[in-house]
Amino acid sequence: MTAQTIDLPGKEMLVLLSEEQIQARIAELGAQISQDYAGKEIVLLLVLKGSILFAADLCRHITVPCIIEVMGLSSYGASTESSGEVAVTLDLTKPIQEKHVLVVEDIVDTGLTMRYLLKNLRAREPASVRVVSLLEKPARKRVEVGLDYVGFVIDDLFVIGYGLDLDQRYRNLRYIGHVVDASTPSC
Ligand code: 5GP
Repeated sequence: MTAQTIDLPGKEMLVLLSEEQIQARIAELGAQISQDYAGKEIVLLLVLKGSILFAADLCRHITVPCIIEVMGLSSYGASTESSGEVAVTLDLTKPIQEKHVLVVEDIVDTGLTMRYLLKNLRAREPASVRVVSLLEKPARKRVEVGLDYVGFVIDDLFVIGYGLDLDQRYRNLRYIGHVVDASTPSC
């Protein structure tokens, strides 16, 4: 695992997934999705803000027609642990009734946010709803949400970069990593 210097004193970033690994996997996901949705139009539903980079790269590998929509969600509660109580901070502006919706998420951790979102979307009577998540952390799963496409299954680590934030920062990194003490030996 390579380490990158970051602007946090005494800390460094261990790269978990390089830019090349991420991009290669996204190309595979795009090809699979294009094949599965042949002859259909997709509503790509981005969940702000974490999935912006992933969705931007993924949609360029999708060859069937697609419409891009966004939704903002926020978990209630002060802790970093998802509470399962979710507020819609930005709602869809168009109906999705009879549309094929593909939710694009950065990471599914406990699954509580996705469970809420899927229930919310299904009430709007789309033709279908599927989920593509770049990352999945099965160790912390609390509810089964049925992910249709997963980029990478990762260990129970708090990861940042490529859309994922630490206090709203580091979303613009091209790779995904996790912050460690600079003294931690990297393997
Ligand atoms: P869940 O409801 O599945 O527990 O949490 C989903 C949300 O928690 C994700 O969309 C993301 O915003 C946040 N989250 C979960 N794990 C991580 C992580 O390792 N890094 C970052 N930056 N956010 C995470």
